[in-house]
Amino acid sequence: MTASRPKSESAFAQAKQVMPGGVNSPVRAFRAVGGSPFFADHGEGPYLYDIDGNRYIDYLLSWGPLIWGHAHPEIVRAVTEAAARGTSFGVPTELETEMAKQVIDLVPSMDVVRMVNSGTEATMSAIRLARAYTGRRYLVKFAGCYHGHADALLVKAGSGVATLGLPDSPGVPQETAQATLTLPYNDEAALRALFAARGEEIAAVIVEPVAGNMGCVPPVPGFLEALREVTRAAGALLIFDEVMTGFRVGLGGAQGRFGIDPDLTTLGKVIGAGLPVGAYGGKRDIMAAVAPEGPVYQAGTLSGNPLAMAGGLTSLRMLAEAAANGLYERLEAYGQRLADAFVAAGKKRGVPVSAHAIGGMFGLFFHGGPIRSADDTSQADKALYAKFFHALLDAGVSLAPSQLEAGFLSAVHTDDDIARTEEAITQAFDRL
Ligand code: PMP
Repeated sequence: MTASRPKSESAFAQAKQVMPGGVNSPVRAFRAVGGSPFFADHGEGPYLYDIDGNRYIDYLLSWGPLIWGHAHPEIVRAVTEAAARGTSFGVPTELETEMAKQVIDLVPSMDVVRMVNSGTEATMSAIRLARAYTGRRYLVKFAGCYHGHADALLVKAGSGVATLGLPDSPGVPQETAQATLTLPYNDEAALRALFAARGEEIAAVIVEPVAGNMGCVPPVPGFLEALREVTRAAGALLIFDEVMTGFRVGLGGAQGRFGIDPDLTTLGKVIGAGLPVGAYGGKRDIMAAVAPEGPVYQAGTLSGNPLAMAGGLTSLRMLAEAAANGLYERLEAYGQRLADAFVAAGKKRGVPVSAHAIGGMFGLFFHGGPIRSADDTSQADKALYAKFFHALLDAGVSLAPSQLEAGFLSAVHTDDDIARTEEAITQAFDRL
């Protein structure tokens, strides 16, 4: 039984008349879990309120950015003060330099950074730069990792190692897709085999250092180290896509947490505190190739937007302070409590389940585990997740409307929110 949300249902019917599938981003349409999406009215702290007046403890958090929850007073103040001074200038502001300094200060491998408007722009630009810098054609990505919707990145793995890509999406030219090679995540042997065969043709490897787009799947020990080693030996660049993990699995992102030094890093989500922003950056000599310093063109009318910079900078400063007081350990402990509640409830009911928690991310799978790659997560039970998702929604808990997405925690979730969610998880298994 799914709770009725008449105003949201009516709003969705109207939206479908004027937007593809009724949404501005496909995952919002609830296709994987069925039913009709709820429409947001407003948010406050860890809670999201829909237009029917229901309240949800929010673990979607706008797909990750809201590490300070909804409408945090200090972020709202920074953004509104910035807006009152002007929403965009098209000439430099000192705020952009302050933001760049803050990002560079926190992300260990970055010497220089360029702001863009989304994660997609960040990865697309980093790849162009990597190809230009190395003079090589091929990009390597991992099946199940998502890096935005640029043509080169809409390619999934074929079976086996180093399969030439086929477009995952119509509209991607075959020659573009063929320049993207895919490998299974967490498979060091496949990685080494590809580099042994074709290492000198590879411009870059792009990876989610903790995968969050096949559900949350951490790297197995040694995988990220192997990536660093083989790319360096082959003269290929290593791009850490930390759009999701940045400032989320730790203050220094996954690279800080695992002690890996990528050549380029892409950022998004948390960096903008919910405003549209992304960034890419890395080693000074590589970034020197970006226009106007170098020949690799990349630009943006709204890049470095003052509202996004003000909100993001406030958020990052607050994070730096909170991290010193154990924020990331607390988020991970909360995530682990949700993971443990899920696994315990599954075990009690004889339902195969597994779960991961790392920093402010977690993943819940209807699969007995271990979960290491997209092959594993693709075998998780989708129908059970759909029922579980709706049971939680009816209990006032909002998770991602797909098992192949991560869950997120914020600094403003309370012990009480977590306890109520543990209870909701346990009770949801009674309805499966
Ligand atoms: N990279 C990763 C790791 C992501 O999770 C996402 C978005 N979920 C992107 C890139 C694309 O970011 P955006 O949606 O802002 O374009």
